[in-house]
Amino acid sequence: MRACVLTATGGIDKLEITDVPDAPAPQAGQVRVAIRAAALNHLDLFVADGLPGTVRSFPHIVGADGAGMVETVGPGVTSVQPGDHVLINPGISDYSCEFCRAGEHSLCVNYRLLGEHLPGTAAELVTVPAHNVARIPSLSPELTWAEAAAFSLVTLTAWRMLVTRAQLKSGETVLIWGIGGGVSLAALRIAKLHGARAIVTSSNDAKLDAARRLGADVTLNYRTQKISQEVRAITNKRGVDVVVENAGAASWDESLRSLRRGGRLVTCGATTGPHVSLDLRRLFWHHWSILGSTMGNAAEYTEIVRRLEQGELRPIVDRVYPMAQTRQAFERLARGEQLGKVVVEVSS
Ligand SMILES: [Zn+2]
Repeated sequence: MRACVLTATGGIDKLEITDVPDAPAPQAGQVRVAIRAAALNHLDLFVADGLPGTVRSFPHIVGADGAGMVETVGPGVTSVQPGDHVLINPGISDYSCEFCRAGEHSLCVNYRLLGEHLPGTAAELVTVPAHNVARIPSLSPELTWAEAAAFSLVTLTAWRMLVTRAQLKSGETVLIWGIGGGVSLAALRIAKLHGARAIVTSSNDAKLDAARRLGADVTLNYRTQKISQEVRAITNKRGVDVVVENAGAASWDESLRSLRRGGRLVTCGATTGPHVSLDLRRLFWHHWSILGSTMGNAAEYTEIVRRLEQGELRPIVDRVYPMAQTRQAFERLARGEQLGKVVVEVSS
């Protein structure tokens, strides 16, 4: 089968489109999906650069997000059948550890992601547990393959961050960094669905204009404006209830300075660096909650697919590339030019 692989760690230059052995025939409880489109995430850039302890052998098929048609089902699978159009949840859990038994699949002790610890979605075929696929809901207009591929990782991540972890309430104010990114755009959509007021940031005024059209209440340019000062001015010195972080080092201090007393900071990423500092006296004095979050559990995934069906969580696609141009797709993501998801069409 054709696939986009890393031939070694060392960045985007190590990407290649090549023929690899087909994804294995599905075993009991598994399905094999003929991929139509795969969406990129910042994770794919980290994997290309070489995350310690993840990719164990090369060539390694990249891509966490994907959508396609069920090609074969393994013994015992009744939830889907060949020909079904499906979304893929990229987080693979063992469904047996104490956290899985408690319904917290993204806390699984054996949690693995497609394209990181396992062969990814940028291939003509991928084999995954049947737990990890959901039928693509019917929408008007119908979801494109690119939209379907763009849905799972960022929507699940943002949903758990805001709804489960930060427990965002109607009337609250949320600060969302870097609105070009997929998690941030999904967070904006989810914040507005919950009746919150959304302040979003970017270094790019065109992206801020687009964010206003997508429902952002206030837009701030972090290149030209001091975010915490602006937030204090907008909120009568109070600060925001919730901050959605995924940048890490570059935005951390400003995130804390923007947070109200008793506020919640929820983080799912560290795209500008993982090490930050924290003055514990400010943490306890202000009663802050600092919340980590990764992906989401099966119930949350079911819920976001239900919301997608209701037309509430349609993903935003930035640009679609043919598979032969996967490297250009990675380069667009690496330069941070996108507003929404960068997608690769695997077959059409
Ligand atoms: Zn588990």
